[in-house]
Amino acid sequence: VLSLLDQASRFIDNGEYEGPRAINPISGELEELAAGVAMVQAFSHVIALDSGDGLVLFDASLRPFGPAVVRALDGWSSAPRHTLVYTHGHVDHVGGAQALVDAGRAREHPPMRVLGHAAVSERFRRYQLTNGYNGAINKRQFGGGRRGRGLVGADGAFPSHFVEPTETYEQRRMLHVGELEIELRHDRGETDDHTWAWIAASRTVVTGDFVCWTYPNAGNPQKVQRYPEDWAAALRTMAALEPELLLPAHGLPIEGRERIRRVLTDFADALEIVVAQTLQMMNEGATLDTIIHAIELPDDLLAKPYLRPTYDEPEFVVHNVWRLYGGWYDGNPARLKPSPDAAVGVELAALVGGVDRLIERAQRLAAGGDLRLACSLIELATDAEPDNVAAHRIREEIYTQRRRDELSLMAKGIYGWAATESTSIVEAGSSDGEAG
Ligand SMILES: [Zn+2]
Repeated sequence: VLSLLDQASRFIDNGEYEGPRAINPISGELEELAAGVAMVQAFSHVIALDSGDGLVLFDASLRPFGPAVVRALDGWSSAPRHTLVYTHGHVDHVGGAQALVDAGRAREHPPMRVLGHAAVSERFRRYQLTNGYNGAINKRQFGGGRRGRGLVGADGAFPSHFVEPTETYEQRRMLHVGELEIELRHDRGETDDHTWAWIAASRTVVTGDFVCWTYPNAGNPQKVQRYPEDWAAALRTMAALEPELLLPAHGLPIEGRERIRRVLTDFADALEIVVAQTLQMMNEGATLDTIIHAIELPDDLLAKPYLRPTYDEPEFVVHNVWRLYGGWYDGNPARLKPSPDAAVGVELAALVGGVDRLIERAQRLAAGGDLRLACSLIELATDAEPDNVAAHRIREEIYTQRRRDELSLMAKGIYGWAATESTSIVEAGSSDGEAG
């Protein structure tokens, strides 16, 4: 069995891709990567550094992984857990913290310091404010795709309790623990509360989600603003430090100066190309519709084993660049103050001679492979007649096909959810029929 580092080298050097499980192990097991440096493979990983005066940890993983993380660390070191750094406040990075706190208390260790960027606590407060919404979108994002299934509860809601940071910082912070000197750096990227770390003595960079072994999650259609340009800049800063060891929160750890430089540069390119093209077209007065259909990324970049758009995708990043630098108005005046979707559906159905014509045409377009247009037409049909079982039967088919054809979990989740909506209307309609 290859070590995680050797596995990463093999994939990066040969360009081989063996699917998400191979590049993002989540077994709950710990592997020592170098003297005093370990990684617990989980969702997210937990990075552990032995300072000689207790462990410094980066991230605590998702809550269900907490007990496995405690066990894995126990098998490696009995030293107190001195400091836990949150790379950011996403639930898969902070959820396991309570298990670590409880384990320390049971052993009567000194309380663990919990460090994070100043915006982490604001994030936790936002989660309380939007818990119902998060429940709905998490079910769509993770419920519709295979990867990540079971990572949120049945109701999709986030936990109501978080282990708050005991100390926060704004831009930079030096940590001295035992023999370790660690520089914490804040940059915006996937989130506004992100931290990455540089350990100069061992030329090690702890990246959090700045490196995630998929196309960067900078476009997420259902969540708050991401910062693709800042993200790329942070990656360039890391590359300029010439790290010898890179420890990500998802995916495989990477060693070797040249290999790491290449990965960081490719990640930065993959974001900067989208940002540059989008901004150029925005500055030329293009509409959002024009831009999302005009954007182009080199295929060989997206084919790299660490840049596959299996989670997020470039088209969605365009939307986030538009939202960051522009407003929500997309350039189509009909959508500034539009008619209700249902009214458009009813009008169009009447024009073409009935909802059945829309359904037939949608079906034909789907069969021919134009799923974008097929979805537009079937939405008009079901907007016009929300209880039309025949329309929902075709809608279910079209979105099932679309989910299968898409690569990103974000798209698969939303299309899978749409198919499920129609399934339940078809099933309710059929049982009505039987009863009647
Ligand atoms: Zn993450």
